[in-house]
Amino acid sequence: MNWLQIFIYTLIIFITASCTQENKEIRNVIKHPVLVIHGGAGTILKESMSPDLENQYREKLIEALEVGYDTLLKGGKSVDAVVLTIQVLENSPLFNAGIGAVFTHDGKNELDASIMDGSTGIAGAVAGVSTIKSPIEAAYSVMTESEHVLLSGKGAEEFAKKKGLEIVDPKYFYTEKRHEQLKRMLNSEKEQADSKFGTVGAVALDIYGNLAAGTSTGGMTNKRYGRIGDSPLIGAGTYADNNTCAVSATGHGEYFIRNLVAYDIAARMKYQQKKLESSATEVIKELKLKGGSGGVICLDTNGNISTPFNTTGMYRGYIQAADSAKVFIYANNYEK
Ligand code: ASP
Repeated sequence: MNWLQIFIYTLIIFITASCTQENKEIRNVIKHPVLVIHGGAGTILKESMSPDLENQYREKLIEALEVGYDTLLKGGKSVDAVVLTIQVLENSPLFNAGIGAVFTHDGKNELDASIMDGSTGIAGAVAGVSTIKSPIEAAYSVMTESEHVLLSGKGAEEFAKKKGLEIVDPKYFYTEKRHEQLKRMLNSEKEQADSKFGTVGAVALDIYGNLAAGTSTGGMTNKRYGRIGDSPLIGAGTYADNNTCAVSATGHGEYFIRNLVAYDIAARMKYQQKKLESSATEVIKELKLKGGSGGVICLDTNGNISTPFNTTGMYRGYIQAADSAKVFIYANNYEK
């Protein structure tokens, strides 16, 4: 082979390689991103909601959807969109996550959160933390910067501090509304209809076709003995796998733990070749039969969305194109 032939060969190999690379990149970025969120399920009735409060919920859900979607449109990963979306809701006193979290029996706020990356199967979570401003960010750090999946209490707080996350005084999470709910429960008055919910969650599909799911919560009012719910438990309150779906749950945690709700939805898709919609609705119906109330938001890699719940309402919404955020609150279609 003379020098000219070697040169031509090298040139051909170089051109072919760069074309293949370019095609691969084009193929990988043609997907439309999708983001779905929830802000808790429970007894949510239009007749007990003031128009002003309803607006506040709608506006905050839309803001969260737009923040996350902007990240996805700019090429951000689904895990990043999940964190940024959930942080908007954690920073709002309207929801039972971050500021506005419910109180424990002892008058404290103990927060739980988890996140899972559907492209790699890695996951991170924190449970029972009282000084980490953004539990979902801490869950992300556990996932990406530790060899563990779930850190709890003081250890999780020490880890977050070491990683440079924002640490706050436990009083930061206090809101009068949630404190009043605890007082009412302690006085064994009838529990207020909205005292148990407000957990937040997000599932996202990015332009690379990767899924992620995350959930953040204060748990349940009047919880005691270091009770941990489903939200920080992978497979119960949160799950993501590119081969099946991404799921974030909200509701009575004990039932979601016993029934591995998030994973059960993915498992029906995996082992029974069921579609997202039938897997999710079946699981939530069966949960109700067992006494478990709540709902899930689910998303697959084709951008299919399913948001079944067995309560009278679930704060929820999705966005599939810029400026097209849709939010819903009630079970019946008042919204339409
Ligand atoms: N699932 C949460 C828990 O049991 C509560 C909720 O979603 O409202 O801690």
